[in-house]
Amino acid sequence: MTLTIMRRITFCAGHRLHRHEGKCQYFHGHNYVAEFYVSGEETDAVGRVIDFAVLKNRFKGWIDEHWDHGFLLSQEDENGIAAARLVQPSRVYLLPFNPTAENMARYLLERVCPPLLAGTGVRATKVVIWETPDACAEASVDGSSRMVACGPESCTISNNGS
Ligand SMILES: [Zn+2]
Repeated sequence: MTLTIMRRITFCAGHRLHRHEGKCQYFHGHNYVAEFYVSGEETDAVGRVIDFAVLKNRFKGWIDEHWDHGFLLSQEDENGIAAARLVQPSRVYLLPFNPTAENMARYLLERVCPPLLAGTGVRATKVVIWETPDACAEASVDGSSRMVACGPESCTISNNGS
């Protein structure tokens, strides 16, 4: 049996989407919500796959250090990087792709979570990034990645093709 728990981390960050054809090409920011889903097969003597406080410390610690109140940009966005670094002090975090919600979720799942969870006996199986209360993207270990537009009652799912 697989047991999965989730820890939610909120943060603020600026970004822009390089080569976006609409208003996302401009510098702007979001109040993001990241949901980290962690799975394991075994529970400890208390009945946990891992303590929620451990997840908070590790995930929030990484987010606070690298993304919170920072500016996320594609490493190909030379003009945006130069502009953001003009501001001193500045916190600019470069990604190997555009900082869309899909790519941020993928990056957290593939690159950030494995070292953070090393030695804990659990693994990250899904990361969801909420960019607004109405739009989120999900990356999961089965390789599916999708954009979800969620209302209070129902979700419509459209595959982004990745
Ligand atoms: Zn945006």
